[in-house]
Amino acid sequence: MVAPLASYPMERICVFCGASPGRDPAFAAAAGDLAAALVRRGLGLVYGGGAVGLMGELADAVLAAGGRVTGVIPRHLVDREIGHQSLDDLRVVGSMHERKALMAELADGFVALPGGWGTLEELIEVLTWAQLGLHAKPVGLLDVAGYFEPLLAFRDRALAEGFVREHQRDLLLVAASPDALLDRFEAHVPPPPRYGEPPPP
Ligand code: AMP
Repeated sequence: MVAPLASYPMERICVFCGASPGRDPAFAAAAGDLAAALVRRGLGLVYGGGAVGLMGELADAVLAAGGRVTGVIPRHLVDREIGHQSLDDLRVVGSMHERKALMAELADGFVALPGGWGTLEELIEVLTWAQLGLHAKPVGLLDVAGYFEPLLAFRDRALAEGFVREHQRDLLLVAASPDALLDRFEAHVPPPPRYGEPPPP
């Protein structure tokens, strides 16, 4: 289970992102910008351990800038020879569930870059864990080239329909630049978890 409180100052940030590169070159550029910001701030990267797509771009950029990278990958993906070969800290685990639990434990905050179902699932899981008070670590997304606009529209709809409360909406931090997002992570004060309140009128 995830620790109930984040340990500050932050040491490592977990990044979820696509195992594909995406079409828009802005996505790879954003991975490079995030890598540079992490290294500049002395923050290590925790990620899914892959060599492909935006995941690979991000890890390569952190390594090239002299930063620390921890990859956490389930054995079935290593066996398909798509685990990153240049990491000195590659943790091989038994399942996708173990991978997500270990990444969550190792990291002091979570960032999503553009990606597909996997990225979305990982982001929403740590967000719901924050909502339930299972951890108190900041969760945010980098809205590169407006990629996450449909998700933000869903969030607003869920708020309007009474399925998400304002304090729950605000658990998802959104920024267009890595530095703006990481500044918000450093200032993050988690709200106390609240359950079972009636929807707003
Ligand atoms: P998606 O956002 O759908 O591209 O999914 C990203 C997710 O793809 C990761 O979190 C992994 O679960 C999975 N994945 C696919 N290929 C790899 C790989 N080579 N290394 C690690 N994870 C991978």
